[in-house]
Formats: sequence, C-alpha cells, structure tokens
Amino acid sequence: MQLIIWLLLMIGGFTPTQVRELETDPLFNSGRGSALTENGTVEMEASIMDGPKRRCGAVSGLTTVKNPISLARLVMEKSPHSYLAFSGAEEFARQQGVELVDNEYFITEENVGMLKLAKEANSILFDYRIPNGGFETCSAGAAATDSPLQMNGLPISLYAPETVGCVVVDQEGRCAAATSTGGLMNKRTGRIGDSPLIGAGTYASNLCGVSCTGEGEAIIRATLARDVAAVMEYKGLCLQEAVDFVIKERLDEGQAGLIAVSKNGEVACGFNANGMFRGCATEDGFMEVGIWP
Ligand code: ASP
Repeated sequence: MQLIIWLLLMIGGFTPTQVRELETDPLFNSGRGSALTENGTVEMEASIMDGPKRRCGAVSGLTTVKNPISLARLVMEKSPHSYLAFSGAEEFARQQGVELVDNEYFITEENVGMLKLAKEANSILFDYRIPNGGFETCSAGAAATDSPLQMNGLPISLYAPETVGCVVVDQEGRCAAATSTGGLMNKRTGRIGDSPLIGAGTYASNLCGVSCTGEGEAIIRATLARDVAAVMEYKGLCLQEAVDFVIKERLDEGQAGLIAVSKNGEVACGFNANGMFRGCATEDGFMEVGIWP
C-alpha cells in the first residue's frame, strides 16, 4: 500500500530534511516520482506542523517546486498564513527563492506507465495495495523490467509509489510531523487530498506527532491525525491505544495508515490495509523497518 517513513530522531529541533530526501528519490510518491493527474501532470502537496508551538504550514497544487515540504515550512515560518495553493503557492515559492524545476523533472517513465494502466483500469486508486502473500520474485523470463519483484503478477515498478511522512520527537519531548505526496494516480486536476490538510493527514500537538497515508478522502472524513491527539487528550489513552482506537473506530471502508510519536518517546503505527512501509531510527543508532503488521 502506501510507503511512509517513520523516524524517531532524538535530536534537538526538527527539520524536514528526511522528507526532502524522500522527495528527491523517484521511488516515492512525493517530489520527483509523484503520482500523476488524469492529464499526466504533477500537482504536489505537503504539510508540516510543530506541536508545542502549534504552528503549521501547508501547500497544494505545486508543479515546479522541487521540495514541497520546504515550501510548507516556509509558509509556516515566513508567511502570516497556514496554507497556500496553486499559483499563489508558486508565486510565494519564487519570492522565497526555493529551487524550482520544470514539471517534466517530476514525471518518471514508471509513473507514465502506471497512469496508462490506471486509465485502462478506469481507476483512480490503481491497485497499489500490498497483497496478503507478499511479494513474489520475478521468474528469469520476466526480466524485461528493472524490478526483481512482482505483485499480483505485475512488476512492482508498475505499482503506484508511496506517499512519505515523518514524525519526530526530540529530547525535550517536542513533537513534529510532516507529510508530502503527489496524491493519487489518475486523480482529477485540482483534487486536494488529506496530506496538506492539518488535522487530516498531518497533526502535531504537545502530546504527539502524526502523519497519515492511504485513501485521502477516507482520512479527511475521519480527521485521522487530529483524532489520535484528541483521543490521547480526552480519553487519556497512551499513544498505541489511541492509534488502535482511531484506526478501528474512525476509518470507514477506506484503507489508510499512520505513524506517530509521543512526547514520551513512544513510537506507534496502525493501518487497516495488509501492510504499510515504515522505518524508525533513534539518535543512538537503533534502526528498524517494517512492511507487515
Ligand atoms: N493520502 C494520499 C492522498 O490521498 C495518498 C497516499 O497516501 O498514498 O493524496
């Protein structure tokens, strides 16, 4: 299903550096490698939130900004607003001097192929769910693609890449969250998903930081990220209990997942799909990655 990187960094302060790295890697559905609109263009979105200071920034409809998460951070730090979109966001990017590139930079051969398949299947959510059986290794005869892995009989490289997110907590218990995406493959032009919406795809408070992935419309209906913080605050649940509660009680038929950290340094994740790509790292060198429950 969706890829999300889950990083617990016991360091002072918070930067979107980790998300920038993933945006620059074409393997992920953010920045270069973003999912394409029905017209074959890229409209990227991102958001960031600093929990203790209750500051946030979000951007949508970006077509030329190399690292959308950096622009979201600039909206938070250098503008009086919380959310800028489309031409206004691009104009702000030019004023701030962030790196701009042609729209073509973001469009990869793999994604053009995936858009074609999505259109043939008349589907927005072209099946990028992880199958129960896991990945199969390609037979020798199937080496026509770069990918050694297959899923449901198709090369893994043909599947929609994954949205990225990062949640962090520092030694003083300050939490932050960031999410960046190209959205859904074959989405309508102008469609805005959960990722740039504070409270839906991204949220941080003095208690926790949360970043979501999955079917944006379901995440928006559930105010998924904010609900983790709300349940902790109002029901007094610990982080993993709060995550389990919202995944079970707040999501309807939509498939989604999230990563979260708490001010006490707990890490948690939850999803109602077969799997979710994730990773965790701490300052003292601990590292872990996971796909399945
Ligand atoms: N949540 C994203 C969206 O709906 C997609 C994803 O997480 O893969 O735009």
